Amino acid sequence: MKMLLCPICQTELRRTEKQMKCENGHSFDLARQGYVNLMINGKKSSGDDRDMVKSRHLFLEEGFYAPLRDHVSNLIASRKPQVLVDAGCGEGYYTKVCAQHAREAYGFDLSKAALKLAAANDAKTHYAIASLAHLPLADESVDVLLSVFAPFDEAEFQRVLKADGLLIQVQPGPYHLYELKQILYERVQLHEPTVHSRSFDVVKAETLTYPMEIHDPQHLQALFQMTPYYWKSPKESRSRLQAQSVLQVRASFHIVCYRKQVKK
Ligand SMILES: [Zn+2]
Repeated sequence: MKMLLCPICQTELRRTEKQMKCENGHSFDLARQGYVNLMINGKKSSGDDRDMVKSRHLFLEEGFYAPLRDHVSNLIASRKPQVLVDAGCGEGYYTKVCAQHAREAYGFDLSKAALKLAAANDAKTHYAIASLAHLPLADESVDVLLSVFAPFDEAEFQRVLKADGLLIQVQPGPYHLYELKQILYERVQLHEPTVHSRSFDVVKAETLTYPMEIHDPQHLQALFQMTPYYWKSPKESRSRLQAQSVLQVRASFHIVCYRKQVKK
């Protein structure tokens, strides 16, 4: 973990047997699975909880989002980045595959439950509990930065990305899970992707859309639980969804590649 900085004094962290330590004596524990907790004040991690992570893991392991993962991985492959960072990596589903193209890879997330899984399944990537608004990384140290369904901190991403670095953002496309929303709501609102152009230029923007067929009620429930609608849907909508024996639903992702704006 050569690259990580102490979140308190921003000096380099070095690994000891069970901890990471900086030269000023700040130390952070390494978990059994290998990730490190870089939150200050022993703050409880506030990311996705265990049930949410379990559902998402189950769904992703079925391969429903594999076309997206492979698409993102292909965007990176030819660049052969020195340093790849996944900001908001969750259980490392996208990180692990993309990390194969990089010399060093890092995954940051607030969810301990997610990082446990990530670190246990991926020996190459260095995983840490860290705030996406204060990444434990030096200025201009990252070649490829991924933000997949994660909070987007434009100023912080601008800070850590190298001048010729690539930032890839994945958001739900307008028709993502449209048919699922039709079951849940009377009026379906389309998701509007956000473009961040204050300090970045768009190199390429594309939409990846494909049909999914979900038969297993467990997978359907898992997909539902992964969405923001899970907490907002009334009981009747939930029962309507549970009554489905099969769901034909679109997956649609908006993928934007950015580079840093050249300072004039
Ligand atoms: Zn320190």
